[in-house]
Formats: sequence, C-alpha cells, structure tokens
Amino acid sequence: MAIKFFNTYSRELEEFHPLDPAGKVVKMYTCGPTVYSRAHIGNFRAYVFEDLLQRHLESRGYDVHRVMNLTDVDDKTIRGSRAQNLPLRDFTAPFKEAFFEDLDTLQIKRARAYPAATEECYLQAMIAMIKTLIERGLAYQAEDKSIYYRINRFPKYGQLAHFDLAELKSTGRVKNDEYDKEHIGDFALWKAWDEEDGNVWWESPWGRGRPGWHIECSAMSMSLLGEQLDIHCGGVDNIFPHHEAEIAQSEGCSGVAPFVRYWLHCAHLLVEGQKMSKSLGNFYVLPDLLAKGYTGREVRFALLRVHYRAPLNFTFDGLEEARQSLARLDEWLRRLWEAARAGERQAHQAKSIEDDGFAIALDDDLNISAALGHLFDRIRESNRALDSGIDSARALAWLDWWGGINRVLALEATETRPNEEIIQLAEERARARMARDWKKSDQLRDQLAELGWEARDTKDGQVVTPKNHA
Ligand code: AMP
Ligand code: ZN
Repeated sequence: MAIKFFNTYSRELEEFHPLDPAGKVVKMYTCGPTVYSRAHIGNFRAYVFEDLLQRHLESRGYDVHRVMNLTDVDDKTIRGSRAQNLPLRDFTAPFKEAFFEDLDTLQIKRARAYPAATEECYLQAMIAMIKTLIERGLAYQAEDKSIYYRINRFPKYGQLAHFDLAELKSTGRVKNDEYDKEHIGDFALWKAWDEEDGNVWWESPWGRGRPGWHIECSAMSMSLLGEQLDIHCGGVDNIFPHHEAEIAQSEGCSGVAPFVRYWLHCAHLLVEGQKMSKSLGNFYVLPDLLAKGYTGREVRFALLRVHYRAPLNFTFDGLEEARQSLARLDEWLRRLWEAARAGERQAHQAKSIEDDGFAIALDDDLNISAALGHLFDRIRESNRALDSGIDSARALAWLDWWGGINRVLALEATETRPNEEIIQLAEERARARMARDWKKSDQLRDQLAELGWEARDTKDGQVVTPKNHA
C-alpha cells in the first residue's frame, strides 16, 4: 500500500512518491526555531511531528535527507541582543545550545544540517538569489532602500494559502505603514539598515542591511537540497506568508516548479484549551515540565499521540495519561524480557511476528492514533499469552517486533533494559534467597538499589525494575 500525505497545496490526500528516480532519497526541509528565546512546547509539537514523519519514512526504507534552519537574525534576535548589550552571536548561542539539549531530551533525531542564517555562505546565497530576482523583474528596491518581492509578477502567489491577492488588503496580516512598497503584500527580501539594527548589518550590492526571514529558507534549502524538495514542513502559522513567499522566491529564481512536492503542516498546540501565552501563565518550555517531574519521553508521547493535523490540547491530565500508557508499555517489555531470559538455554528460533498494522496506519497520512491503537491491542493480546506462559523464542520475537516500532516511536526507556551486571546481581540474589541467605539477599538488594534498580519479592518470585522511572 502506498504512503499518503495530505498536501496543503492541493488540500488533498496524495500518494507519496519521491523525486529520486531510484525511489530512495527523500529531501525534506523543516523550518526551525528563531533563537531569541528557548523554543516552547508548541514549537516542539512541530518538531516531534517532523521526527515521526522522518522515522516512519525511514522505516519504509527511504533515506531521508532532512535540513532544519536556525533563524539567528531577525527583529526579535536583534532586539534581544541590544537589550542585553551582547553581540548578536553571543545572545543567540545559549538558545541554540538549549534547542539541541531539548531535541535530545525528546529523542528527536538530528537533521543532516542546521544551517544558520548568519553563516557567510548562506548570506551570499541569499544575496545571489535576490540579484536574480531583481534581474527577472520579480524584485525591486523601494525608497527605503530595502528590496521587496513584487508579488503581482508571480501569478501563483496565494495558491498555497488558498487566497486571493485582493484579500490581502483586508486581512491585517501585513503592515500597512510601508507606504513605499508597490503592493501592500510585497515582502522584504533585504532590509536596509536602520538605527534599530545597531551593529547588525552585512554589505550587499544594495547597501548595508540584513536578509528578510523568508529568503533564508529558500536559500538554505536550495543550497543544501537542490531546486526541488520532496517534503517541506512547519506549523500552520508558517503557511502564510512564510511558505507562500518561499515558493515565490525559489520558483522565481530557479524557474523550476514545483519547488516542493508535498507541503505538510501541523496544527497548533493549545494548553488547557487556550492559546499558550506568557500572560496566561500557561507558557511552557521543556525544563518547566521536567522540573514538575515529567520525563522527556512522557512529554514526547503527549506531543506525539494526537494526529498532526488535529489541534493538540496539551493538559496535565494528558501528561498523566501518557505516563500511564508508558507504564503499561514498560511492564509489558519487562515481562517479555523476563520470559526471554527464563528460557535462555532454549536455542530454537521462533517465527517472527508478521504484523505490519502499526506501519500501515502511519502510511495513511501518519495516522498515529490508529497506529497506537493497534500497538496497545497487540500488547493486551500478548499480555494474555504471557499470563499463560510463552517460551523465550516467542518473547524474543515480540521484542523484535517492538524494536521495529520503537525505531519510529522512540519511546522505550533505555534505562528499563537491565544490563549484564544487573541481571547477574538479580540472579545471585535469587540464588541467595533460595539458600535462605537473607543477609546476602539484603546486601544484593542494596547493591541493585545503588545502581538504580529495585528488587521486589512477589508470589511469583523476584521482580527487578528500574527505580522511579516513569
Ligand atoms: P518560530 O520559532 O515561531 O518560527 O516557530 C518554529 C516552528 O514551530 C514553526 O514551524 C512554527 O509553525 C511552529 N510553531 C510555533 N508555535 C506553535 C504551536 N503553538 N503549535 C505548534 N507549532 C508551533
Ligand atoms: Zn522557514
């Protein structure tokens, strides 16, 4: 069955076929954070969705070449650096670092490249693109010395967002005080220096200034991935004007259309039913949630489990549910490992579990709810089988099946898998208890505890689990 995605451009579900004639490489571009503050959990909803998309494509055999930009120059970064009296680079550096830290906490795979807007090679690429656009009559310099894109010359402008240019006047989405533009919707490609920019400027053929935000993504994606991309993602707020502008710039420059084959946008994250905002006190960054005792994988699961095109209402009840589901998963894995170990000496191989239901659900526009529904049904079923006892080869087959799913979900708590040392200590303790050597058994319990593991004695024997993992 083919993979299908809802393409924002056509507003239809479309079968996915990459541009690569060999059908292997997928070129994917994802808009990254503006590094003027720590990225919030709304941003991470977008990044977790993109991670799921990449991992699913990989599980289907594609080689995903993903690029994500870092916007490290714009009004907000300049304002922040001036307020703190820091060079722009020093002001943005800790936010870049925090971003990568949060990616790791959420188990989000690294992209192939994280180009930053202020890197010289990309600035030169942006300047070159703007020159071409001017030569083609698609851009002009206004009285304020800035360069603007002439949207009237690009007939497709508005097609991604599905609106008419005439509507631009009444949307209020564009500043109406820029009297010297030819059309109210013309957007800046290059912003001429003004006092508010302080010492942030680069030389260009049009004088000192800095690039506009939209041209960054066109220049970086084309420099690193070429003139056409398979997939471009972002949150719905990126559709207009950002992505609309990217199409106009990229196609205007290269003459190759479409710039992007599949546009995928995720809906917004709300917190307790409301827009996340500092004034409402519901604005969260990842460390806020970690400080409340939640783990990275609980947050990942809470962000992941709702279909990307449905608004996600992030609540603390939802986080608790995520915790419970993960506890079920952990307990199932613990039982499987135990069953797998119990028969270690049984050498025979079990048939692998032929069940592709999880991946088939994701093929359908990344239907994560159906995929997780399928997973938890199978967990319930195999738990019943575990109740009546399964042999180690069967347990290993289930663990193998789960391994494939976990490469997509990245939800397994790495610390829940006991290493050799823990297994040996646990076995030694079980032997000590058989020999009624309580002193040694207590000593071994302490040793396990020091290593972060808890040994409990149940009617079915000893159970060893990681302490306080959630
Ligand atoms: P920004 O740093 O504002 O450019 O946003 C970076 C990425 O996060 C973009 O893809 C946005 O569309 C996305 N984003 C911003 N706010 C939210 C939100 N509340 N929910 C989901 N995605 C968001
Ligand atoms: Zn972008």
